[in-house]
Amino acid sequence: MKGQKAIVTGGTRGIGKAIAMALAEQGIDVIITGLNEERANSAAAEIASKGSTCHALRADVSKAKDVEELFKFVTKHFERLDILINNAGITKDNLLLRVKEEDWDAVINTNMKGTYLCTQEAIKMMARQKYGRIVNLSSVVAYIGNPGQTIYSASKAGIIGFTRSVALEYAKRGITVNAIAPGFIKTDMTDRIPEKIKEQILSMIPMGTYGTGKDIAKTVLFLISPDSSYITGQVIHVNGGMFLG
Ligand code: NAD
Repeated sequence: MKGQKAIVTGGTRGIGKAIAMALAEQGIDVIITGLNEERANSAAAEIASKGSTCHALRADVSKAKDVEELFKFVTKHFERLDILINNAGITKDNLLLRVKEEDWDAVINTNMKGTYLCTQEAIKMMARQKYGRIVNLSSVVAYIGNPGQTIYSASKAGIIGFTRSVALEYAKRGITVNAIAPGFIKTDMTDRIPEKIKEQILSMIPMGTYGTGKDIAKTVLFLISPDSSYITGQVIHVNGGMFLG
């Protein structure tokens, strides 16, 4: 896989950064995107220290204009694209009756519309090449639900339907499209959860530990490798036994 070209959206921290690091360790050149330019640049320097090229770009995946710029950046620096990891995601948690319309729009636009916009642009390049690997980040809550996460779980369930349909549209074109549904992974996103709720979540994990970004990164490495070339439209659950798909 050395020399392949990848985008990891939201690759500036957490799971996305762990994925970008793992790709770089394989000699894959990476573009990471995020909302904070300074953080993106410092993450890119760290990722590049693994020996491959890493560029950072501030791009909001929920904005078509930013995604267009991102793919111009890809053409300029890489000319081709082998791998797209749709990782950028946010939560705006609240009980249904307290959910505000702007929170609904923000989460759906980042998690779902962002995945659609990036995939649509990537597919144009991948279809020409007759090769591509797309991995979308869903979540265990798409399957089991979670009080207070109505918008987030809707967005992550939507990603699964999207993944399956794109996989079918491009199955004959050398492009595989799969999703990963992580359970509870320790990152900035989950650090915000109150300790009491974290303890409750831990009690729901049969393996008794939280997952790490590396657990997700290793699954991504499998899904982009030749070992998984006959796998498309699937969801891989990485959750310590929290939900059995
Ligand atoms: P995080 O909050 O630590 O990082 C999210 C990243 O996405 C950041 O780099 C941020 O800059 C970027 N981002 C947010 N909005 C963006 C936008 N509009 N445009 C571009 N980039 C944007 O989150 P994480 O825990 O590393 O989660 C990564 C992905 O995995 C998300 O899609 C999340 O929903 C999913 N996930 C996480 C967990 C978990 O337990 N941490 C579980 C299931 C699924």
